[in-house]
Amino acid sequence: SKTAYVRTKPHLNIGTMGHVDHGKTTLTAAITKVLAERGTGTFVPFDRIDRAPEEAARGITINIAHVEYETDTRHYAHVDMPGHADYVKNMVTGAAQLDGAILVVSALDGIMPQTAEHVLLARQVGVDHIVVALNKADAGDEELTDLVELEVRDLLSTQGYPGDAVPVVRVSALGALEGDPRWTASVEALLDAVDTYVPMPERYLDAPFLLPVENVLTITGRGTVVTGAVERGTVRVGDRVSVLGAEVETVVTGLETFGRPMAEAQAGDSVALLLRGVPRDAVRRGHVVAAPGSVVPSRRFTARVYVLSGREGGRTTPLVSGYRPQFYIRTADVAGSVDLGAAAVARPGETVEMTVELGREVPLEPGLGFAVREGGRTVGAGSVIALG
Ligand code: GDP
Ligand code: MG
Repeated sequence: SKTAYVRTKPHLNIGTMGHVDHGKTTLTAAITKVLAERGTGTFVPFDRIDRAPEEAARGITINIAHVEYETDTRHYAHVDMPGHADYVKNMVTGAAQLDGAILVVSALDGIMPQTAEHVLLARQVGVDHIVVALNKADAGDEELTDLVELEVRDLLSTQGYPGDAVPVVRVSALGALEGDPRWTASVEALLDAVDTYVPMPERYLDAPFLLPVENVLTITGRGTVVTGAVERGTVRVGDRVSVLGAEVETVVTGLETFGRPMAEAQAGDSVALLLRGVPRDAVRRGHVVAAPGSVVPSRRFTARVYVLSGREGGRTTPLVSGYRPQFYIRTADVAGSVDLGAAAVARPGETVEMTVELGREVPLEPGLGFAVREGGRTVGAGSVIALG
């Protein structure tokens, strides 16, 4: 039988972000290689990360690769996503639940549009700690790399991060993956920076259990399993839970993390929950598993929304009342209509208050972050002010 997961080190969720082709996936593979050599991880090759299985849910394809590893002091779950749209869906909606991020910037190319957008999104969703991997240092020229570093620090400062204090580590993910000692050391230095710079976040362990459903699968002979990251609280085998969206109450009959059984899952853990007697097609991505009676789904809320500018990949024309975009809330994707009240219009680059009426009920609460999407792009990032 499988070895149980033993919680010996604090657990954090991190991820790589940055412009396509700057080396996020190569770095993810390189980190696992470096730690496998140290004996605290398992090497995950590039191809296994880049070909993560697709999850198709209601017409949206989500790609996300999870790897896990340990440093001397911490246990990490690390997410890597192939496409820009995947960041928007997972990061902005809070599904990825990043406690910190590694911003990968190619020293050859510098800041590109997705670099800037990911920093903006990270700020919007409350990722307070970013460590920069200035990648491809093997191929870069020193003076140009110095300029790129200044440019990255400046971008971070502009978005409200302490740009002067953020660790910027020059690495070669490819060099480390190929076993070059100099570049292996560079990836170790990056991991040290993550260990020391990203603090252990406050976990809401005493709050009622809540897990947004990311994926649903069937284990033959055992039943329906839902996966996701625990947003708050704790859950144990035998606990009663409600599945909001499916409107069923059931019992957790099994609990695993990265394929290993665990006695108790807590806020921040990526887990699979086996649910007693729930049909496979009753539960979907976007539903929420929670302690019974702890959350009330609603359709109407007021929110503060930042409308992305055209330069940030958003709209070039204003929003008006009656606008009907998609709302990405936790892992759910719901249509809704916008009422801007007296202001009536919201221009790109502005932060506005709006009332939203969703097409269906979802669990909502003040402070919850969400993304506003239209025709496959993010046009806004917001948070709930009040319900009703
Ligand atoms: P992603 O889109 O950000 O995940 O980027 P990938 O990891 O797929 O890398 C994109 C390309 O950059 C690939 O051809 C990699 O081999 C190359 N690459 C990644 N890291 C490095 C590096 O440190 N040095 C050099 N020279 N090339 C790299
Ligand atoms: Mg990639």
